[in-house]
This record gives sequence, C-alpha cells and structure tokens, in this order.
Amino acid sequence: MGLRARLILIVTLGLGVSLAASLGLVLRIEEARERHATSQRAAALLSALAPPLSVLLTQGRVADIDNLMGDLAKRAETLGFTSITLVDGHGVAVAGTNDREFGADLARLDPFVARAIATPRALQDPPLPRWPLRVSVPVQAGVRWATLIGTLDQDRIQRSVMERRWRLVVSALMVSSLGLLVLLALLSVEVLWPLDNIIGTARRLAGGDWRARAHPRGAAELQELARTVNEAAHALSGTKEALEAEVARRTEELQRANERLEKVALTDPLTGLFNRRYLDQTLALEITRQRRAGRPFSVLMLDLDNFKHYNDTHGHPRGDELLRRLARILTDCLRGSDVVARVGGEEFLVLLFDTDADAALVTAEKLRAAVADHAFPFGEEQPLGRITISIGVAAWPVHGDHVDHVLEAADQALYASKAGGRNRVSVALATPGAPS
Ligand code: GH3
Ligand code: MG
Ligand code: MG
Repeated sequence: MGLRARLILIVTLGLGVSLAASLGLVLRIEEARERHATSQRAAALLSALAPPLSVLLTQGRVADIDNLMGDLAKRAETLGFTSITLVDGHGVAVAGTNDREFGADLARLDPFVARAIATPRALQDPPLPRWPLRVSVPVQAGVRWATLIGTLDQDRIQRSVMERRWRLVVSALMVSSLGLLVLLALLSVEVLWPLDNIIGTARRLAGGDWRARAHPRGAAELQELARTVNEAAHALSGTKEALEAEVARRTEELQRANERLEKVALTDPLTGLFNRRYLDQTLALEITRQRRAGRPFSVLMLDLDNFKHYNDTHGHPRGDELLRRLARILTDCLRGSDVVARVGGEEFLVLLFDTDADAALVTAEKLRAAVADHAFPFGEEQPLGRITISIGVAAWPVHGDHVDHVLEAADQALYASKAGGRNRVSVALATPGAPS
C-alpha cells in the first residue's frame, strides 16, 4: 500500500475511533442530563401539587383529593407521568392516578416508597439509564403524614434521548467529515505533494535529466530533503560535466595520436613518401575506382642507377641523403593528385590517375631529365658521370587488364631501360588484343 493510502487510512481510522469514543461519552452525559432535567421538572410539578393537597388533607376533604387525582390522571400522560400516587405515613396508597394501587402497602413492595416516607424532603431516583424515574415530594399537613410519589414515563425520556442521539451523531459525522477533509488537505500540502515532487525529481535525475530540481516546500524536514537532493544533483552534474569534458579531450587526443600513428605506418621514414603498405592498402581500391569510371591510369617504376656504387664509394649516410633529395625532386615534378611511394631500397613507384601511356611517357621523361640535370654531390663520380634513374612505364588498359599485370608490365619496361644502358624511359609492350 502506498504512503498516500496509508496516511489517509490512518487519519480516517484515528478520527473514526476518537469520534466514536467521544460520541459515546457525550451521549451518556446527554442522557444523564436529560433524565436529571426531567426529574427536576417532575419534582417541581409535584411540589406545586403538595400545598393544595396538604390543605385538602388538613380539612379532610377526601372527595376533593380524589377529584384532584382524577384530574391529574387525565393529564398525567401529557405531563410525562405514568402514575402519581399519594401514600400515607405508612406507605399505603390513599389516592392516585392508578386506581388499582388503592389500599396497597407500597412501602413494603417498593423500596423507593419506603425511603420516601422516611425522608422529610423531596427525593429523586439517581438518574440511572434504563431505570424508571421516580420522584417523591412530602405533603405536610401539620404533622407530615403523606407523600406524593410520581413515576415518570420511561419510554418518553428514552425517545427524547434517542432523538437527541441521532441529531448528535449526524452533526458529529458532518463535523468530523469536514475535519477529515481539512486534515487531508493539510497532509497533502505539508507532506504528500512535497514528497511527490521529491520522488519525481529523483526519478528524473535517475533517468539522466541532470537539470531536474526539487521545490523545497511543505514540512521543514521535507524542505531539507528537497534541498539535499538538489545539492547532490548539482554536485553530481558538475562531476559528470567535468568527466564528459575529460573524456572528450582524451578522445580527441587519442584520435590525433591514431592519425599520427596511421600516417607513420603508411609513410617511409627516410623520404617522407608513402610506403609499400600504403600502396597495398589503397592501390587496389583507387585503381578499381579508376577502372569502374572507365578512366585510364598509368604506373611508373623508378630505380636509381648504380646506387650500390654510390653507397660503396661515399657511404650509406650520403646514400640516404641522395634518396631524400631524389624524393623531393620527384614530388616537385608531380601533380598533387599523383601518388609517389618508395617501394624498395632505391625503387619508387608513381601512380598517375587519368593518365594514358602517352601522357605517362611525357611525365616519366620529365622526371628522368629532372634527376639527370640535378647537381647531386659526387654525381660526376658515378659510372655514367651523374646521378640518373631508369623508368618503366605501363598503363591500364593497354598494358594489362588487371593492376598486377600493369605493375608487372612496368617492371619489365624498367628492366628494359636498365638493359638498354640506364638513364632512360621505356614503355611496356602493348598486350595483344588490348585497346591501344
Ligand atoms: P642498378 O643500376 O642495376 O639498379 O644497380 P644498383 O647498384 O642501383 O642496384 P643494386 O640492386 O645492385 O643495389 C641497390 C643498392 O641500394 C644496394 C644498397 O646498398 C642500396 N640501398 C638500398 N636501400 C638503401 C637505403 O635505404 N639507403 C642507402 N643508403 N642505400 C640503400
Ligand atoms: Mg634496385
Ligand atoms: Mg638501382
């Protein structure tokens, strides 16, 4: 059962129990009060009867006493009596509204009558519930010798009590319902609504809404709770933002490191050109694109002439320097869209997109001439009197249908250049049946 239902149940039960208890008490007091008031009224009535009766008794006017009693008998019910009896000093009924009692020794039959005749003042039964109300008044005639005994209509008193009881119950119910409503409204404002707000806020925070905040309302403890939740949310969201910023910074660093690593992995450290791994990764892909678009491409296979001689004569470090210079010359002579990679010790491969064999031959010649014309250190000490390169040219589709065939054709053309005396460019032999 939820808190709301529990609280409503507890409040309703508590109010119901206290209402029932206090109503019971009030009803008892009311009933006692009613009985007391009734017997007071009855005593007053009998007391009013006493003086004329004492006169009649003193004068011995028995007939008038009977007449008076007869009159009373007619009005007894209206006055709230079931009977009014006059007893003598011994408790024997001498007159009354009930003829059957006449001559009966009531003092013997009725303890109240016995007490009444022995008492010089008016008597009333204690106002016990469900007990016939009795009232007695002494009638004095010189020396007292008679007593008036009145028995009140118990049913009438009971009816009046019941009427009052219902009125009391209905009004108590109305007042307590109103009280219950007020109590529930107070409970909602002070406890339930603020609690709902805090629970809702906590749920939103748990769902990742870090801007959610509770309203400090209602009872002081709940306001304190709302403020504590807000402080915790504030602290947590700060930590979260800091963490996210840190993660973003680290991710960016990692990305940059990865890019650097990738570049290193695909770059030749000596010359800064692409390496064979790059070619293996991209060549097939790029060339497939070229082929799909139906655009030609060419490859140039380059090899330094007599490089072993250069190394042997001037040392490896100078050989390295020569390779770096050569790389710069090649890059300077080529377009940005061309790819040049170092694929072996002193071997290079150039990829020329959208370039057929004739145009590739022109580029190759340009490269060869640029190298041959460059004044490398100790170039004159080389067997050909300068630093030179040999180049083999092959193109798709004229020299092969597949990229491997084109590369092989370029390799063979390079071999032809070497065999032809170096420092020259050779174009591969066209594949029979291939488009020229
Ligand atoms: P050819 O004209 O027939 O190509 O003769 P070559 O001497 O250039 O060819 P060979 O294959 O006989 O020798 C290649 C030489 O390249 C061997 C090696 O000393 C040199 N070489 C390979 N890689 C490097 C490098 O990274 N640095 C240096 N300095 N030399 C290298
Ligand atoms: Mg070689
Ligand atoms: Mg060589």
